[in-house]
Amino acid sequence: MDKITLEKFYEQIKDYNEYDQKKIIKAYQMAEELHKGQFRESGDPYIIHPLSVAYILSELRADADTVCAGLLHDTLEDTKLTKEEIVSNFNQDVANLVDGVTKIAKMNFSSKKEQNLANTRKILTSLRNDVRIVIIKLADRLHNMRTLEYKKEIKQKENALETLDIFVPLAYYIGAYRIRNELEDLSLKYLEPYFYQTTLENRDRLEKEEMPSLQHMLEEITESLKKKNIISNIKIRTKNIYGIYKKLSEGKDLSEIHDLFSLKIMVPTVDDCYVTLGQVHGLYHVVNNQFKDYICTPKPNMYQSLHTTVFGKDDRLVQAQIRTFDMDIIASFGLPAYWQLKKGLTRNDMQQMLREKFQFYKSLEEIDTSFSNNKEFIEQIRRQLLTTRISVYTMKGNTIQLPKGSTPVDFAYELGPEVGNSMQLAVVNDKKVPFNHTLQNEDRVRIVTDPTQTIPNPKLLKAARTIYAQQMIKKFTPNS
Ligand code: MN
Repeated sequence: MDKITLEKFYEQIKDYNEYDQKKIIKAYQMAEELHKGQFRESGDPYIIHPLSVAYILSELRADADTVCAGLLHDTLEDTKLTKEEIVSNFNQDVANLVDGVTKIAKMNFSSKKEQNLANTRKILTSLRNDVRIVIIKLADRLHNMRTLEYKKEIKQKENALETLDIFVPLAYYIGAYRIRNELEDLSLKYLEPYFYQTTLENRDRLEKEEMPSLQHMLEEITESLKKKNIISNIKIRTKNIYGIYKKLSEGKDLSEIHDLFSLKIMVPTVDDCYVTLGQVHGLYHVVNNQFKDYICTPKPNMYQSLHTTVFGKDDRLVQAQIRTFDMDIIASFGLPAYWQLKKGLTRNDMQQMLREKFQFYKSLEEIDTSFSNNKEFIEQIRRQLLTTRISVYTMKGNTIQLPKGSTPVDFAYELGPEVGNSMQLAVVNDKKVPFNHTLQNEDRVRIVTDPTQTIPNPKLLKAARTIYAQQMIKKFTPNS
């Protein structure tokens, strides 16, 4: 990764309006002055770090206040600047953001000390207050991971583990795939250096081999869309190393990974997406069970796209990801990108969107309200949020994400308390199953209810695994 220069940064913020640019430059000048004489472990002047964080934020198209807070994010901690001075030079929002980031600066997730537990809780619950605090924290972590080579080996491993544990899931929850993929690969590089290097080499070799035929497909598709009067932009993408690592550890071979290579096809409208799907299926043989319509039913982090896998040249599997240009921005940058798409969104709009549309938020709120003890809070977060999640389908084909190990009871309450309370039996993939049946990824689940029943069956409590379901059952059970 090239070092960010001030020239590059100024070039990057050109898309912001004049007022915002002035504000951002003022924040830069202030940060530079305040950090004067401080250095990074790399030997660079300290300012390179906040500058890089702000650069990442502006790449995400975050609003100007967030970019300013990125520039100032270490000033409260490491310099004489006060929160009041940030308010008077900028505004309350910038001050709150910097303060929010500072309060969670010194956390350490691997340790069990009460202070650290409290800090961990702060970062997670700061989402409830202002999601931008977490976005700045992610940018901060990304730059620290990019410059991890200057740290001692033990610190590298510790940071890499913590990144996989906390920051990768957070990036996923807000839909910031580009950051997630990079954080995953950087972590793996330090945790499994040998594997990382060999896989990187194998992948690059294979990519070189396949490039001409992928390029050929790209041209064929572009041509066929032109005939339909659809303007498209197609990019060739190779899976990230960590993604390959996960598939290989499941026992798969490189050639069996159905999305090792993908063609990202971007078109103007949703209608165009479906026309494109038809064209792709007309040109190539389809791998039958790999079609997914995330446009109709977005992933819980708001990712939208059509996925289909086809046989390319020499029967090489190639995934086509078809989406609109706007969906692509969301898929790359996640929640922060809504600022770019709907200029003028306020913090309250963002918080509301988070609350209504991002499924994990509800669980976070639940856990935060239910556990005042920090240790219990973190344990629940680990068990329910920062754990592997499975996706199961409703009969209508909607995706519901649940922690691994969840049962039909958890699924029922996820659909709504009234579904859980009136639950009679559960059917998974057309077979009746007991309440405590463990759901698997991609299961299709149907809950048979009796609408006249409003009090949950007492047997449900034992079968519930998620806090939310357990609490709902207790809440609606008389005398409990
Ligand atoms: Mn920092």
